[in-house]
Amino acid sequence: MSIDPSTAAIARLSGEFSCPSMEAGFLEDQSGTILRYLRRALLLYSLFYMMFGVNDIVVLGLHGAATPLLARLLMPLLALGLWRQVRRAADPVRTAFRAGSVFTVCWLLSYLVVTSYRPQDVLLHGASMVIIVIAIQIFIPNRPLHALAIAAAGSVAFAVLAWSLHAESPRHLASISTLILFANIFGALAANRYARMAREQYRAQQVLKNLSVRDPLTGCYNRRHLNAALLDGEIARARRDRLGLSLIMCDLDGFKAINDTHGHQAGDALLHAFAALLQSMTRETVDTVVRYGGEEFLVILPETSLDDGVLLAERIRAAFAALRVDTGGATLSATASFGVTGADFAGGQALAPHALIAVADELMYAAKRGGRNRVMARPFARQCAHDDIAAAA
Ligand code: GH3
Ligand code: MG
Ligand code: MG
Repeated sequence: MSIDPSTAAIARLSGEFSCPSMEAGFLEDQSGTILRYLRRALLLYSLFYMMFGVNDIVVLGLHGAATPLLARLLMPLLALGLWRQVRRAADPVRTAFRAGSVFTVCWLLSYLVVTSYRPQDVLLHGASMVIIVIAIQIFIPNRPLHALAIAAAGSVAFAVLAWSLHAESPRHLASISTLILFANIFGALAANRYARMAREQYRAQQVLKNLSVRDPLTGCYNRRHLNAALLDGEIARARRDRLGLSLIMCDLDGFKAINDTHGHQAGDALLHAFAALLQSMTRETVDTVVRYGGEEFLVILPETSLDDGVLLAERIRAAFAALRVDTGGATLSATASFGVTGADFAGGQALAPHALIAVADELMYAAKRGGRNRVMARPFARQCAHDDIAAAA
């Protein structure tokens, strides 16, 4: 889970994050607001749209207005159906955006029916189209480019209909068509600006949050974050999904002597290189590397059996032992010792996070006692000595 939010780019055209996981995080964060806006929009626009049915009756009489009224009545019914769907959806935000698209497409189709029944009021309908275009792009939750495509397609359809009705002078029709074009352009610019601003704000929040949960030297998560939420969250998820979870505790060997011989800056460079290796050898959005102490790191491996955890620890151990780090003054190498434990949540059993850490820590110290530069492991539940797997160097 090591995406750096400060580098997350926002696409110029769509106003969305280019990184899918950042965009997904943003939408999840905003889901309450998006659903609230959608509910409000569906309710308000259906009601206003129905209210204007009075005009249809005044102009066409009750009998003549039957079809336009039916076209209008479809909108609150559709809104109700869509809202029920969104509330039941497993992915409410994506469903809300789909509901926004369906509602706006049907709204435009319905409005074309109303317009075709009242050709004498085509200029008034054009003025309403300006409002509809703005509403589609800014007030009804949707992805900005989808909203623009729907508003633009609806505007073209309206213009074609308006001209083909031959009820107004070309000068007036040209003016109203231009106004609708401007509404599309300004609506798109405003929607893009709003989308970018919301994401810039989210990115700033994430950068600040990141600063408070990460260690500045290595970029790994800090102990505060681990204690506050991280491991509890991962254990809860492993229990819910009934999957395995493994932990690797690792510590640089003889690090004090390296500091004493080559200086703290060289030690920092080595620490940084070890942390970078841990991060590069683990899965970016699944595993978590925590700086547990000075030169001690904890790696949380969700959905990972003990055997796979041991294999990974052994690969990291070998890679680090072979690494040569240029510290400016000297090229250094070092080794590290590893303790690995894994819990199987197939039965959905509970366990205390710190008991799991304690086992990994104990195994890491066993690796130190066993001669360093090695991996010691055993399953969490059965803490028997004969289960130990020692992968000596
Ligand atoms: P062992 O193999 O038993 O782990 O021995 P060790 O020397 O690595 O362990 P010890 O606990 O004796 O020393 C750890 C050293 O790590 C002492 C401390 O100065 C150093 N250290 C802790 N944090 C940092 C840091 O951020 N930068 C640097 N350069 N050194 C650090
Ligand atoms: Mg050490
Ligand atoms: Mg230590």
